[in-house]
Formats: sequence, structure tokens, C-alpha cells
Amino acid sequence: MAMQSNDYNKPQVKLSVTSKLDGIRSWSLQALDTCPGSIAPNGELVDACKGCYATQGNYRYPNVKAPRLFNREDWQRDDWVFEMVQSLDNDRYFRWFDSGDMYALELARKIYMVMQATPHVKHWLPTRMHKFPKFQAIIELMRDLPNVVVRASSDSVTGDVLADQSHSSTIASSFDDPSIIVCKAYEHGGKCSGCRACWDQSVPVIGYVAHGKSMAKVIKLKAIA
Ligand code: SF4
Repeated sequence: MAMQSNDYNKPQVKLSVTSKLDGIRSWSLQALDTCPGSIAPNGELVDACKGCYATQGNYRYPNVKAPRLFNREDWQRDDWVFEMVQSLDNDRYFRWFDSGDMYALELARKIYMVMQATPHVKHWLPTRMHKFPKFQAIIELMRDLPNVVVRASSDSVTGDVLADQSHSSTIASSFDDPSIIVCKAYEHGGKCSGCRACWDQSVPVIGYVAHGKSMAKVIKLKAIA
């Protein structure tokens, strides 16, 4: 099919909108396939990934999977950084990886370039790649940017906090530690409703209350182990 002239400058990058995040956009990959940090040394999924929301519900639909599969190839294009920066012109908040993770060092370097070139955007990047020594330097560079929060995800479903990380998150059935900011989305129909704590550099730890049947099962098994 012939390309129309105005298509030449149109960014091809595929962003998605998660209803939870008040319309804030994300760039995502397929969960688990791109999550090397989800695998424990014994070869099993870590506890926090056993009930992963991004492998259930809507995430199983072909139209939700398609952009995530596309993005795995797309980020490798030479124009990708430029097009991402162009696409974020009107965004003020952005979330990396509603599903998936920055599995490749070259991808992490490109994301860093996008973050650097979009100081008007607050970036939140949740990850388990902090586990791999070769990613630590690029994560620290990202964290040095004033518009970025890289939040290392704890593998725990019982509220254990990653003490060596400046910004992190953890999961539990409930929280009583006042230093942990607890996500209240579940009290607002599953939406952030104006909360931007995950993007806030002054918030060291976010606590997510476990929800869903799969996660309840993981926690129950953990309790009797
Ligand atoms: S802590 Fe706030 S910003 Fe983060 S997911 Fe929950 S409601 Fe949204």
C-alpha cells in the first residue's frame, strides 16, 4: 500500500493507556518473556510474579499482546529514541513497563536517552533488573535525573523491603509500617485518582496491597510453608 506523504513523519512507536493510571501513557513489553528478574535461582517464578496481573484478564487478548510483541522489535530501530521523545511532547507523566521489563542493556541506554531528552515528563520505571550487576550503573544514571524514579520491585509478597535501593516497592496483604506509602487505588475503583506517589522521588517505598485470587493463593501457600 502506498504511504501517504504525512505518514513519513508520524512516529511508529506504540504507547498504551492503562485505565488505572488516570490516562497516563505507558510503553510496555510482554510480561515474563522480557522479565529475567522474575526467575528465582531455583528456576521458579519469584513470589511477587506468581500472581502477575499482566498474564491475566485483558492482558491475554490478542489486541493487548500485539503492541507488546511489536515493541520488542521496535525499540531496536535507530529512530526509536527520537520518535519516543517526539511522542512524549504533551505528556507530563509517563510509566515505563505496565508489563514486561527492560531486559536488555541497550534498551536501558535508549530509555535513559528518552528520559534525558524529556525533562518536562516525570518518568516512573518499575523494574527487577537491579538484580543484575551490569544494569546497576545505568539505573544509577537514571536515578540521577531529576524527572525519574526507578522503583526496584521486591520479590516479596509479605512486605519485605529492598534495603539497598533508594526507591522500591513491595507487596503484602496489609501494611503497618508508617514509612511505607500504601497504594490506595483499590479504594478508588482501582484508579490512581490523582495520586502520583509512584513518580515521587521523596517516596522511598510504595506498598501494594495484594489483590486477586492468584496472589491470595501465593500468600496462603507462603504462610503455611
Ligand atoms: S501509589 Fe498512587 S500513583 Fe502509585 S499506583 Fe497507587 S494510586 Fe497510583
